[in-house]
Amino acid sequence: MLVFALLIGFFLSRIMTRRISRLITGIDELQAGEYSTRVKVSGRDELATLAMAFNDLTERLESTDAVRKRFVSDASHELKTPLASIKLLTDSIVQNESMDVETVREFVQDIGTEADRLTRITERLLALTRMDNGYVAPRTAVDLSDVMTDALHMLIPLAEQKSVQIHLDLAEDCIVYSSVDEIYQVLFNLVENAIKYNVQGGRIWIRTQRQVTAVRVEIEDTGIGIPEEDQAKIFDRFYRVDKARSRQAGGTGLGLSIVRDTVIVNGGSISVRSRSQGGTCFTVLLPLLREEEAQ
Ligand code: ADP
Repeated sequence: MLVFALLIGFFLSRIMTRRISRLITGIDELQAGEYSTRVKVSGRDELATLAMAFNDLTERLESTDAVRKRFVSDASHELKTPLASIKLLTDSIVQNESMDVETVREFVQDIGTEADRLTRITERLLALTRMDNGYVAPRTAVDLSDVMTDALHMLIPLAEQKSVQIHLDLAEDCIVYSSVDEIYQVLFNLVENAIKYNVQGGRIWIRTQRQVTAVRVEIEDTGIGIPEEDQAKIFDRFYRVDKARSRQAGGTGLGLSIVRDTVIVNGGSISVRSRSQGGTCFTVLLPLLREEEAQ
């Protein structure tokens, strides 16, 4: 009996040790940065649960790492393009001694435009990083219709340039608990896009509405529209449907990512749909701040 018990004990402990060393090897590989590592799950005991939890963790780490790598590569590419243009323009000026003043002025203006672009990209990247790090702006009661009016003030000249007509239907008492800067950023970006991606002589309808528990904002345009298959991706960092058009309009591909993150941080949601007559409609819902809550 004693020999039998010893033998069973010996074999059981061998099996256990082998499973534990598989996990240890997995942890070592993970520590070395091998996020694709997985361990074999066998049995239904606590060790199997541990192995499954480990596999779950490595899977998530792998996907976060892939997103991070893509972001760094996209960001480097976006920063490289204006820098390459600046270098090319300065080289042309330096190497061409007989260049007339008018052309030099034109090239320097182009350098300025590229520098503005770099500033815009870095400002937006910083805004996204701040949000990733969990920064929440100080909050107060904000009237969405008032902020919309302020944003429109800045955007009217752009709309006039494209002869885009803006129709307003702004409701009263659309109060949310947020920061003016954040709400301004969201509304400005959405209306700016509705103008930028509109057709010459197009139209935009902007509606704010107070509902029972939320404030609803709709920005509808008669623009070029967004194909159905792109609609889920436009909120991704650096994603553009038409890169050339976005670049020409001074876009960075980061506007809608900031809008989406800001709306989510404020407890709201954003959706996009195509209009049947062409064009796009963005809808934002933000939690309503009721008077008694405000007090
Ligand atoms: P960008 O700086 O390029 O405008 P955004 O993140 O604001 O970047 O938008 C991402 C992309 O979504 C744009 O490049 C454009 O292709 C598309 N888009 C956004 N808004 C609209 C709109 N109102 N109509 C058509 N396309 C749009």
